[in-house]
Amino acid sequence: MYDEVRKTDPAIAEILDQELDRQRSQLEMIASENFTSRAVMETMGSTLTNKYAEGYPGKRYYGGCVHVDEAESLAKKRAMALFGAERANVQPHSGSTANMTAYLAFLKPGDKILGLSLSHGGHLTHGHPVNFSGLLFEALHYEVSPGTETIDYDKLRDQALAERPRMIVGGASAYPRFWDYEKLRSIADEVDAMLLFDMAHIAGLVAGGAHPSPVPHCDVVTSTTHKTLRGPRGGLVLSRKEHFKAINKMNFPGIQGGPLMHVIAAKAVCFRECMQDDFKDYAKAMVANAAALGEALLERGFHLVSGGTDNHLLLVNVTNKGLTGKDMEALLEHVGITCNKNTVPFDQESPFVTSGVRLGTPALTTRGMGVNEMARIASIIDGAVQNREDEEALNGLRKQAEELCREFPLYPGM
Ligand SMILES: *Cc1c(COP(=O)(O)O)cnc(C)c1O
Repeated sequence: MYDEVRKTDPAIAEILDQELDRQRSQLEMIASENFTSRAVMETMGSTLTNKYAEGYPGKRYYGGCVHVDEAESLAKKRAMALFGAERANVQPHSGSTANMTAYLAFLKPGDKILGLSLSHGGHLTHGHPVNFSGLLFEALHYEVSPGTETIDYDKLRDQALAERPRMIVGGASAYPRFWDYEKLRSIADEVDAMLLFDMAHIAGLVAGGAHPSPVPHCDVVTSTTHKTLRGPRGGLVLSRKEHFKAINKMNFPGIQGGPLMHVIAAKAVCFRECMQDDFKDYAKAMVANAAALGEALLERGFHLVSGGTDNHLLLVNVTNKGLTGKDMEALLEHVGITCNKNTVPFDQESPFVTSGVRLGTPALTTRGMGVNEMARIASIIDGAVQNREDEEALNGLRKQAEELCREFPLYPGM
């Protein structure tokens, strides 16, 4: 593996080796990460990276696009079939540029958008003041309700009626529950706003039929392709036919230059993988694993935001365990579990400390782990919390995590 890099750049070759080792030897529970297939990686490492192809299939500003045109057309066709969408743009370099495309296709700077607050599970690109979305637009935020810790749609409707946003944005990075798409649609209709849903986190669950689809309810749906969808790092915009021209024009030449054709071809490979029966099993297993992990943690007295999960992630508020999110992230890292600290709704701590951690099952499920392994992981997590001052006990727990990794080898042929 990496023979050519080893010859020309041993320093980078060593980093590649070390990163593969790290991914193999830790329990990867960052909810936005996954292990893509070797077919996707091969396609990303192909000669398509050499090609300039500004424009769209059949309408390029460069010659020699005959083969990349076919790759992009396949990617689009598969994306539309996979999600039942009328149109797809597969060029966004990331989830963030997919959102920028969707906003600027329909909004002018200064227009109002209404999205879920970052500290209640939303994403930076949903109007946070440090992000382009908050800098360019007048961003308003809805929240979850304090009791149920689920989206407060009544308040959302009141806000929409009072503020008349041009666009309502659904979707999240740290929200463990189903969304009520019908309600979002009816609120958007009531105030004559467009409805954008950002399914970056749940796209793989939607593709695999393990989570309801936002596509039939929305004007525009954006996504990443590298989270639960398990493809290359990149973005995607799905839309209704009538919005397609505005979206294409805004992505290129509005925002991006030359498309990453090697990544677009890898998106096509990913979408084909997502259409297979084993991907449906994978999507179901991500959800079953998150539910099993959640139940095992509840039994051990952990507080799950909203009381549980409908998808691939859990948000664990660790205040009742006498820990901050920052402490918990470090403690879990020490026993071989990688995750991220995360604010919880109404968090009293700063975003650098936080009161919670976000735990996801996409990567572990790709390794083949199931509900039995989730029970073992819950016991490692609980053991770490109980024995956080006992170095010997923590070492024992780390050995259990390493043993789990050995039982479910990652990229065995590499
Ligand atoms: C991850 C994520 C994004 C951004 O994707 P990048 O590829 O990191 O730019 C946008 N929206 C949501 C909801 C996300 O979870």
